[in-house]
Order: sequence, then structure tokens, then C-alpha cells
Amino acid sequence: LFTDLERELAKFKNTEKALVFNTGYMANVGTISAIADKNMTIFSDELNHASIIDGCRLSKATVKAYSHCDVEKLKCLLKQVDRNARKLIVTDGVFSMDGDIAPLDKLYELSREYNALLMVDDAHATGTIGNGHGTAAYYGLEKEVDIQLGTLSKSLGSVGGYVAANSTIIDYLVNMSRSFIFSTALSPADIGAALAALHVLESDTSVLRRLQNNVNYMADCLNSIGICATNDTPIFPILIGSNEDTLTVSNYLYNAGIIGTAIRPPTVPVGESRIRLTVTAAHNKEQIDYVCRTLDKAIKELN
Ligand SMILES: *Cc1c(COP(=O)(O)O)cnc(C)c1O
Repeated sequence: LFTDLERELAKFKNTEKALVFNTGYMANVGTISAIADKNMTIFSDELNHASIIDGCRLSKATVKAYSHCDVEKLKCLLKQVDRNARKLIVTDGVFSMDGDIAPLDKLYELSREYNALLMVDDAHATGTIGNGHGTAAYYGLEKEVDIQLGTLSKSLGSVGGYVAANSTIIDYLVNMSRSFIFSTALSPADIGAALAALHVLESDTSVLRRLQNNVNYMADCLNSIGICATNDTPIFPILIGSNEDTLTVSNYLYNAGIIGTAIRPPTVPVGESRIRLTVTAAHNKEQIDYVCRTLDKAIKELN
């Protein structure tokens, strides 16, 4: 089953090979710490997921965080490092707390101009953008992006993580990635479930169509209650501000039967606490209307 899943994932991501890890967290930590060492410089979006940050720390590489999706800032930082030094640019594809999409086309141009490897974390992009294939597919750069990483635990509804890349990188990880080598593999049931979910995603195009319709409908509903929603992805951050107000709104939603998680520091910057709403293909219009109506009431009650 592992071989089947890895072959399917490689096909799905349009790469030579893929490697399954026990979680997305372990995939990030194990990949970055294997590929980077103290002689490398890693350029990391400031809003990247904690597992990317931990991988960077474990690698002992020099880490330069650039302002969120700021290509100009990244370029400045790249210029400051010796052209021949080893470099890695790493980014979330769809940012987990903001729902926006990384400018991967521009990051790719910079990676070639400045001789850097490019890695994208598709935890929230697989099953959502690029016809479900993720950020590289969204930009038509599947053959160009060096490392596409993801999780089996979100849209695929199982548990596990993976890395898709060329054979050289995957073979290297098999031999060098400590979170891959020193942890017992997932159970066949987890792998079977992920494989089945991948088949559904590939064969039933109605799932993605329903998801996209719901994303559009949710954005329209939020805009109609005065919340600016511009994203093309299922993640809708509703900025509230203080921790206390965010918890009040979250509890109000919860009592009305809606899960609207309160996201607070350190997951997001201080003063930017938010409710994170996520729409799925399984929701319907009545439910989305109800969420927006209830959210509107909850926010009005704050004042
Ligand atoms: C959830 C997430 C992960 C971790 O994946 P798990 O399989 O839950 O460990 C990694 N990166 C990003 C961007 C995520 O959102």
C-alpha cells in the first residue's frame, strides 16, 4: 500500500517520486533538516507554518524570514547572500491562518535567478486549488518547483504527510531524513484511507466543484455582512482583534452549533486574533447563510 500511495502521490503532483511520512509536521521537519545544514541559507515567509520553522531551526541553517508574500523584500535578502552559497526558499502554498495563496510564480523566478531550491507546503492547497493538485499545479509549475510537501490529514481526511520531488531528492531523504528513518511507519489502514481519498479526489470532479461553489458563496455572504472576503480558498479569517472578543464570538458561534475556532497568539501576531472559518464541499447554502447570520449577530453583540 505504501508503494501504491507513493506512486499515486508522485503522479498526482507530477513528480518522479514521493515519500510518505507519519505527519505533515514530520515531513517538514525531516525534509528541511536533511536538506539544509549550517552552510545553507533558508528564506522563509514570516507566516510559514510552525513545522517549517521547526525544520529550519533543527537544520542549523541561517534563516532569513521575509515579510509575508513580499517578493521585493525576498529579492533584497537573496542579493545579500553569496551567489554560490546553497539556498532554499520555502513557503506555505495556501497560508493556514490567512487563506491567501503564495506568489509561487514569482518565488520560482527568484529561485532560478539566485540559484536557490524552492519548496512549497501544500497542506491547505491539496484538494483545494490547482484542480485539487495544489499550488504548483495552480501556477502550472509542477515540473519546476523542487519540493512539494503536504499532509494526508486535511482534505484527504486520513493521517500522514508526504514529500513529492525528483528521485535524487527522495532517495536522499530515504537515507538522511531522521523523522522518516527513526519513527515507525503508519498503519496500513491510514495509508489505505489516504489512497482511497486520493482516488475520490481524482475521479469525482463534482467534489471540487461543490467546494469552489461553497467558497464563492461564503465569500459573497461574508461581504454582504460587511466582512471583506477576497480569498479563493476555503479558509476565511475573520479578524476580530483582542483575545477576549475573539473568544466571545467563538463561544457565541459554538452555542449556535458552529465551530469557528478562536485563533490567538502565538499562532497569529498580537492584536490580530481571529475566528477561522473553513468551508467544505459537504456544506450547503442554508448552512453558510446560517453561519454568516449568526456571525453578524455575534459581532454586533460585542459593541
Ligand atoms: C497542518 C499543517 C501541517 C502539519 O500537517 P500534519 O499532518 O497535521 O502534521 C504542515 N504545514 C501546514 C501549512 C499545515 O497547515
